[in-house]
Amino acid sequence: MDIEEIAAEIIRCRKCDLHLERRKPVPGEGPEDAKVIFVGEAPGKEEDRVGRPFIGRAGGLLTDSLREAGLRREDVFITNVVKCRPPDNRNPRRDEISSCIPYLERQITAIDPEVICLLGRVALQALLKETTVSKVHGKVIQRDRTYMPMYHPAAVLRNPELRTVMIEDMRRLRRFLSDSNSRKD
Ligand code: SF4
Repeated sequence: MDIEEIAAEIIRCRKCDLHLERRKPVPGEGPEDAKVIFVGEAPGKEEDRVGRPFIGRAGGLLTDSLREAGLRREDVFITNVVKCRPPDNRNPRRDEISSCIPYLERQITAIDPEVICLLGRVALQALLKETTVSKVHGKVIQRDRTYMPMYHPAAVLRNPELRTVMIEDMRRLRRFLSDSNSRKD
């Protein structure tokens, strides 16, 4: 099944209560052959209105950080742990994550990326059962797949001193991708 078919299922989905107040589900966007998937927490107000991931201020910061590290937003796939906005931007509940995460797992299988970047604590907890971003950000973690946790751009907006950390982590990501290409040559 390709990512378009998965997106079509997400748009029809009513598996958890988040469908009750969402305006538009946000399946994610990016190329099906992306080498990197970024996983955030959940759509925010602007994403819910438009149906696209990371388009508000946090999304602008993500795009800028990618560019400053020599990467391009259009080359990566961007999505969230849950695909519908939690009311008032609260954290998604465990039952909502359990209902929604099979979509993310199927997106990961369809894209088969070289690395999955986990943006913030909710994504880190959902995929790696870790909770402290400050201990693991910028590190390559091998489990069933290859992961690299990073700070969520919204956290960086709240704490501007983290901006240089985020850009350095993006540079680590670019070096990981370059090294991975060299290993294949
Ligand atoms: S959050 Fe996920 S599981 Fe819940 S309704 Fe939206 S797409 Fe379905």
